[in-house]
Amino acid sequence: MKDECKTKGECIFCKIIKKEIPANIVFENEHALSFLDINPANKGHALIIPKKHAETTLDLNEKELKELVVVVLKVAKAVKKTTGSQAFNIIQNDGKLAGQLVMHAHFHIVPRFENDGLDYRTKRTQYAHGEASELAKQINKAIE
Ligand code: AMP
Ligand code: ZN
Repeated sequence: MKDECKTKGECIFCKIIKKEIPANIVFENEHALSFLDINPANKGHALIIPKKHAETTLDLNEKELKELVVVVLKVAKAVKKTTGSQAFNIIQNDGKLAGQLVMHAHFHIVPRFENDGLDYRTKRTQYAHGEASELAKQINKAIE
């Protein structure tokens, strides 16, 4: 039997997929899961991950990548609508040298606002108590 990944049992994103640890989930289908980043660059910062453990995007096949990108854009549209942002960054850090900290492939959607002064690599914000779960619900409702 194929061993998908030696780190699978320890992978924090696999634990979120299995609902072993909590996350503010904004969307889920057969192939992908999206949830709010725990340390957001701007409010509404969401991550989109494949349900299959893959360390980097290059470990996904073409079909799997297409299925993931469809969800990335679906979530981006809903985040933009919900947060009222004018624009967004899609960020994908692929490999440790590129800044990838969690070795389960993922895309970031970071909504952008006028004069947000964001340097997404260094500046992060925080949610008030209960704010992230409420925002995740609103983004979920905005998914078309
Ligand atoms: P990267 O540097 O591209 O690997 O980004 C990993 C992202 O995962 C960071 O922005 C973290 O804030 C985020 N992250 C790590 N653990 C969690 C978690 N348990 N729930 C939500 N986001 C997380
Ligand atoms: Zn994983």
